[in-house]
Amino acid sequence: MTFQHPTWPGVSEPVTGADLRVLSLGAGVQSTTLALMAAHGEIGPMPDVAIFADTHWEPKAVYEHVDWLMSGNVLPFPVHRVSDLNLRDQVVDRAAQADGRYISVPFFLDAGGMGRRQCTNEAKIVPIRKEIRRLLGVPKGAHASRYRVEQWIGISTDEMQRMKDARESWMAHRWPLIEARMSRGDCLAWLEKHGYPAPPKSSCIGCPFHNDRFWRDMRRDDPASFHDAVEVDRALRRHGKSRGMRSHEYMHRSCQPLEAVDFDARTTGQQIDFLDECDGVCGT
Ligand code: SF4
Repeated sequence: MTFQHPTWPGVSEPVTGADLRVLSLGAGVQSTTLALMAAHGEIGPMPDVAIFADTHWEPKAVYEHVDWLMSGNVLPFPVHRVSDLNLRDQVVDRAAQADGRYISVPFFLDAGGMGRRQCTNEAKIVPIRKEIRRLLGVPKGAHASRYRVEQWIGISTDEMQRMKDARESWMAHRWPLIEARMSRGDCLAWLEKHGYPAPPKSSCIGCPFHNDRFWRDMRRDDPASFHDAVEVDRALRRHGKSRGMRSHEYMHRSCQPLEAVDFDARTTGQQIDFLDECDGVCGT
């Protein structure tokens, strides 16, 4: 059985008779607000489970935040932590051409443009989908089309362009923050009003979509993560050009080594920019 949800932004609604309601937990501001608003009974029906797809490359503060959400004292539904890969290790191995495949993170190319983006799918979307199938009891290779799954995505009104339909006919995305007409700022205000600290910025340490302000703040506030990003950025070019690439890869859009970038001179005031990221599962 297949079903459709309304496609006009802001009119998603609960799936009638859903077999499973899943909150896609990126552990940033928006998805944390979603989870806590559900816990407070302000949006519903209550999710059956939240799923955090771990890339193993998030800052320590994000893992502490996930541990808090998983503690059992915060949310009335379980948080499942799933992972298919260690994205940092994959980047370093592929930069060394150890496994002969393309790097799945779309780093910047000094000949122009970016690499092909596969990381969101490999490290986030696929592991979440696998966990949903496991929870439904669908054997590997079998169709899940007899089920109806509602997946909550933490997109706020300032990122509506990231709203995308689910890829599977048996799943429907729902955007409760859009339904509630809430921006990222509204989420932060809601958290403050209810006595919750602002969640850390969630995303992979070496994500090329960080803007200059994000990099500057990381260098100042989380030097361990910044040092790690510098190490991986250097590793991108240690063995020359990556497999199949006609140019060198860089973590920063200026195509300079990360430690050489003058973030203060470049800072634009924008927040992290995932505007082209489909599915809205990174940085929320
Ligand atoms: S946060 Fe960035 S590097 Fe990590 S999976 Fe998402 S797009 Fe890829």
